[in-house]
Amino acid sequence: MTSEVQGVVAMAKGEPVSLVTIMVPDPGPGEVVVRIQACGVCHTDLHYREGAINDEFPFLLGHEAAGLVETVGRDVTSVEPGDFVVLNWRAVCGECRACRRGRPWYCFATHNASQKMTLTDGTPLSAALGIGAFAEKTLVAAGQCTKVDPRARPEAVGLLGCGVMAGLGSAIWTGEVRAGDSVAVFGCGGVGCAAIAGARLAGATTIIAIDLDPRKLDRAREFGATDVVNGSSEDVVAAVRRLTDGNGADVCIEAVGSPKAMEQAFYARDLAGTLVQVGVPTPDMRIDLPMIDFFGRGGQLKPSWYGDCLPSRDFPMLVDLYLQGRLDLDRFVTETIGLGDVEEAFHRMERGEVLRSVVVI
Ligand SMILES: [Zn+2]
Ligand SMILES: [Zn+2]
Repeated sequence: MTSEVQGVVAMAKGEPVSLVTIMVPDPGPGEVVVRIQACGVCHTDLHYREGAINDEFPFLLGHEAAGLVETVGRDVTSVEPGDFVVLNWRAVCGECRACRRGRPWYCFATHNASQKMTLTDGTPLSAALGIGAFAEKTLVAAGQCTKVDPRARPEAVGLLGCGVMAGLGSAIWTGEVRAGDSVAVFGCGGVGCAAIAGARLAGATTIIAIDLDPRKLDRAREFGATDVVNGSSEDVVAAVRRLTDGNGADVCIEAVGSPKAMEQAFYARDLAGTLVQVGVPTPDMRIDLPMIDFFGRGGQLKPSWYGDCLPSRDFPMLVDLYLQGRLDLDRFVTETIGLGDVEEAFHRMERGEVLRSVVVI
């Protein structure tokens, strides 16, 4: 039977979001209904609301979530009712050209639910990143549910569903940080702090955090930065060189989505170093580099999509590290709020006051 539940919907471009009744259908073949326990507020939700992703309003927002499987559709064998799951937007297909080449983290045909959730008048909802978890229940594809250890706090491990995973993965998977490496992270918001935590997990001995905001630099230290550089008062490239015996960092991670940070990260690398871009740029941004520097400095320039993660491989492992006290996911949770508080949380996020506001249901 279709469930009537409360959900946070963006009805039109730029308008404040509203808490409304939505209809969640019973799961069809390959689908699962999840009772949401917690869901983080991410910049991407705000981008949907602002019409910056596409025009397919109304959107059911929310996508960094954990909860309990309520019902499963026909042919679902990977999870069962009662399982504690973290949701993901990379349910790999196993059949596309990326999957067939053994690189499923690039999957070009990821799965979402085939049925639509709707408003009470039948208007179909577009679920943010195919998830839509600012709601008491949501409908997803079975592959979007990754079962993890149920002893974990939902508000902490739900964050693995998007921004925190992107940051951790940018260091661990895309940057391939190794024990003893030096790493510089440009931008210390949620993704940047997660990149710092990832670099620490991977064994980096020098982790340099760069930001313009001293509050964010203090936070970066809590996540494992060994040195901090305030870009508003220091020459960033010179500072990174000074902190790495004059060489530059082995891995530079750009976590802002800014041409200036990208250029600094490019030149702050050691010879043959790696530049990872995980900050999401806007369509108008450009970079202009002398080709001789691209060639002459060598190494690798790598965009990181969702941290090159594979949820089925990474979420259970990261939850285990969290439960062992080796990955402090609780530190990302600045505040917990209710479903009706998402609009206000957007404003706090825009003012840079929070790492993550997390809706708890
Ligand atoms: Zn695929
Ligand atoms: Zn997100």
